[in-house]
Amino acid sequence: MTQFGTWQPKIRGRLFYNWPCGTCEEALRFISPVQLGSKPYDVAIVGAGVVGCALAYRLSMYDLRVLLVERLHDVGEGTSKANSALIHTGYDAKPGTLESELLREAAAYWPDLAARLKIPLDPIGGIMMAVTDEQERQLEVAKKNAYANRATDVSILSAAEVREREPNASSDVCGGLLVPRESMIDPFMASIAYAEVALVNGIDLLLGVDIAGVELGQALHHLITADGHRLPACRIVNAAGLGSRRLADGYGGGAFDINPRRGQFVLFDQSARSLVRHILLPVPTVNTKGVLVSPTIFGNLLVGPTAEDLPLDDPEAAHTTLEGIRRVIEGGSCLVSGLTEQPVVATYAGARCACNQGSYVIRYNDGAPGLVTLTGVRSTGLTASISLARHLIDGMQKELGLELSPDIEALDTRPESAWPGWWRRPFANDTVDARVDHGCVVCFCEVISEGEIRDALDSPLKPRTMDALKRRTRSMMGRCQGFDCQVPLAEIMSSHTGITISQLTKNGPGSELVAPSQRAFTA
Ligand SMILES: Cc1cc2nc3c(=O)[nH]c(=O)nc-3n(C[C@H](O)[C@H](O)[C@H](O)COP(=O)(O)OP(=O)(O)OC[C@H]3O[C@@H](n4cnc5c(N)ncnc54)[C@H](O)[C@@H]3O)c2cc1C
Repeated sequence: MTQFGTWQPKIRGRLFYNWPCGTCEEALRFISPVQLGSKPYDVAIVGAGVVGCALAYRLSMYDLRVLLVERLHDVGEGTSKANSALIHTGYDAKPGTLESELLREAAAYWPDLAARLKIPLDPIGGIMMAVTDEQERQLEVAKKNAYANRATDVSILSAAEVREREPNASSDVCGGLLVPRESMIDPFMASIAYAEVALVNGIDLLLGVDIAGVELGQALHHLITADGHRLPACRIVNAAGLGSRRLADGYGGGAFDINPRRGQFVLFDQSARSLVRHILLPVPTVNTKGVLVSPTIFGNLLVGPTAEDLPLDDPEAAHTTLEGIRRVIEGGSCLVSGLTEQPVVATYAGARCACNQGSYVIRYNDGAPGLVTLTGVRSTGLTASISLARHLIDGMQKELGLELSPDIEALDTRPESAWPGWWRRPFANDTVDARVDHGCVVCFCEVISEGEIRDALDSPLKPRTMDALKRRTRSMMGRCQGFDCQVPLAEIMSSHTGITISQLTKNGPGSELVAPSQRAFTA
């Protein structure tokens, strides 16, 4: 049997956190660009959402110097952490668009990709459910659209056939469209796995580094960090999501308008999981795909999202509201009976990058040679991340003269001995392996052991905030939401990393767990 946590790869890239003095291990603190070496980067990517991470992963297969820079203190911490967690087949995309093409390509990649990167994925399939006569008529239109997107495995279901598959379907159901292959995935692990392999293959990753501007040169540009460092790169990819407008302004990129389209969700307890067997989707309107009801790969039930357009830089773009939650519950109850009796564990909101100029806007040599602007990756970027990365690299070859020579040492897989994340447990048949700490449970809701916490802390993409630890291990994600386990987890993280308890944060400086007035007692 494989010993967990034994993967000690040669990590050819470097990971740095931008922390105030003293808050993180010496080796992980970013102090000066000298730490990154004297040579300019061939490609610098701004934004380590799922798209930036996928691009870094794909680029890391070649003999290139690549830098991935992220403002927040973990990868996938922006829009990429708050979505419906589905891998789409693209059946409902607008035929003939880049989005439709990328989704079709990605849907074919995902089963193998997820297995190689050890990202939990379950192709449970979806049912688009009609609950009015008008919606029932729309099902034929949806089927034709799916065929135009070459999703020819969809089929119309009668009301009885929907009920047979979904005993808790609303009594209003009058038909459905079965969409095999729609899948649920661990959305956090997608960004983490891409970035982890890219790091092992030699990319450099800077976390907690806000790029305030770009200094343009002839063949060489510089990213300027908010604290004044200059990072040299021949090519820069702006994959900053909702930050893409501000960044593009810094290098004279062409006009586009973006705004956050907020999507609120309600996450139900695992006891609600058995209510549905498929991903249940409403019939979309011209404005929105509507509120869906879906199991999660973690064993919960997820209902949402709303679609609310807010102004760019609205500080509440990722906040939930009473009105939003009410609409989510109402929307979900149109599809499934019994939802309102189920216990809720959490609510959250994500902000889509809605762009007036369309979805998947890509501009090469935008503002200056070597600059790539990517924006409007709105509702399907988790799915399309891998094909979009392929598409961008092709574009950079053609438009930016990027030359590719394969790196023969590069991995495209996380090995069996890698610590894979929360889903593969270090015990089998009720026995615990040789490590005693794998038998010491610290998070009782999700039954996570101290050893698994330590394995996560030692994994190549070292989590150093409580939220980053949570996304890797599922500790603090259960019923108690960290009420019982946060203190013992903080003690383990502190003793393992040397970060004092008073300096531990939820998601980076400014979110310390201990109030300033109490810090003197906990140092
Ligand atoms: C409600 C909702 C539901 C969704 N459901 C699905 C789904 O089921 N399936 C699916 O495939 N997709 C879904 N999506 C879409 C998907 O989540 C997004 O398309 C995807 O996460 C976009 O990834 P990204 O990397 O482009 O953006 P982001 O994840 O936002 O990454 C951009 C990163 O850039 C960083 N950044 C910004 N400015 C700077 C700067 N100046 N310097 C350094 N870093 C910077 C940000 O901090 C951020 O981390 C959904 C989205 C939402 C909101």
